[in-house]
Amino acid sequence: MKPIIPTAEQYAEFSAWRAVALSRMPYMAAMLFSVRVLNAPGMGTFAVDAHHRLYIDFDEVTGWGTTACAEVLLHEVGHLFGEHASFARDFGISKDDHDVWNVAADASLNDDLAAAGCDYIADTGMMPAQLGEPDYQTAQHYFGVLKRMMQQQQQQQGGQHGGGQGGQQGSGSGQDSGQGSGQDGAGGPFSGCGSGSGGRAAPMELDADDDLDGQSPGASSGERKRLLVSTAAQIVEHASRGRGSVPAGLVEQANQILTPSTTPWQRIIGSMVRRVVRRRAGQERTDYTRRDRRRHNVRIGGPSGSKVVYPGRSAPKVRLAVVRDTSGSMGKQELEIVTGEIVGISRRLRIKGRDLMILDVDADAHAVRGFTGAAALGTAHGRGGTDMTEGIDKALQTPGGVDAVVVITDGGTPWPTERPRVPVIACLVGPWAQHTQDQVPDFIPHLVIEDPTQQGS
Ligand SMILES: [Zn+2]
Repeated sequence: MKPIIPTAEQYAEFSAWRAVALSRMPYMAAMLFSVRVLNAPGMGTFAVDAHHRLYIDFDEVTGWGTTACAEVLLHEVGHLFGEHASFARDFGISKDDHDVWNVAADASLNDDLAAAGCDYIADTGMMPAQLGEPDYQTAQHYFGVLKRMMQQQQQQQGGQHGGGQGGQQGSGSGQDSGQGSGQDGAGGPFSGCGSGSGGRAAPMELDADDDLDGQSPGASSGERKRLLVSTAAQIVEHASRGRGSVPAGLVEQANQILTPSTTPWQRIIGSMVRRVVRRRAGQERTDYTRRDRRRHNVRIGGPSGSKVVYPGRSAPKVRLAVVRDTSGSMGKQELEIVTGEIVGISRRLRIKGRDLMILDVDADAHAVRGFTGAAALGTAHGRGGTDMTEGIDKALQTPGGVDAVVVITDGGTPWPTERPRVPVIACLVGPWAQHTQDQVPDFIPHLVIEDPTQQGS
């Protein structure tokens, strides 16, 4: 069955919810006005797809009241602004894990909504505290926590709880309405947020190119990009004028969107990270005797789902070191490109601080610090000759270790003669990049970052 165009009354109702949503988070205006509203009778909730189509079971949700519907509306567009669907894809979230990802994305989003005064969401939605985790972590982080909980749960039950057919184990998510978990299609109501969250598609979702005979075309990638940028600009502006409280998590997200990166880091680093996480997940052992007893247990899975026991440690985090070439040959423009790339890494991996160490290196390693934002990279330390092997060595000695090293340089540097013990990736920038790439050894994958200003596009 397909969704239908709402009646005038239903649209008026939606407008009332949107007005309340706008008063809470005015900077979300572009997102709130971008959604294509569709009626999805029988679905039981709200859902959104990645093409900004918002599916609403009007008959059902009207009973929730205006405030609740307004906050759920903010939640759904929050999935769009958070790019949860593309992050799920970039990080290789499999179909079997869609429901778990949905819960993780909800946790990463609801803390900001709670900070913006959305009490209904704070009371009924999935919050990081329910996972025993602090606020303002990434969806990937909460996903890792949930996955490990589920693994341990399965191990404890000796595999009796086989998880149904077609990889539905751990299904369900208690977000939005705060109602229990849903079944897939058949049976109970749908309770996810739709494919726009990176979760399972809602029952009535349209195919990407199905425009309901011209009545509801999805948002193109160009439109989505523009909406992200204009919303980010609004958020930064509101925050700078001190108008009301803009949740810190959103300001950070906005700043990252507004700083461009020229490299598809999501693909390069995503696969690298998946390898690291897989390797670590195999090694990680959990100590149940250290379980934190103050944490609430939470259900994942349907009404018959089983309790989750929290392990006494948190998710393995990916930690990167970026070796930034600050030698004299790196011009202001090259350094700016490097800054953009580092912001791109931070944004795509959602890491910063001690998890994203920046080393300024010319012929020696100079400043070493955690990444705290583009502004902090304005000062480049050391402007002499070039030797990136110094930086790589220093990066490998980072206390606590790193999972990978990214070297950003204009080339013309010696490279290690032996394969380093963690993956090293080289990014070449500047006018000589094309010519110096042959010098990079085979065991260091490299890419050339085009100078966007020299691309006559
Ligand atoms: Zn959601």
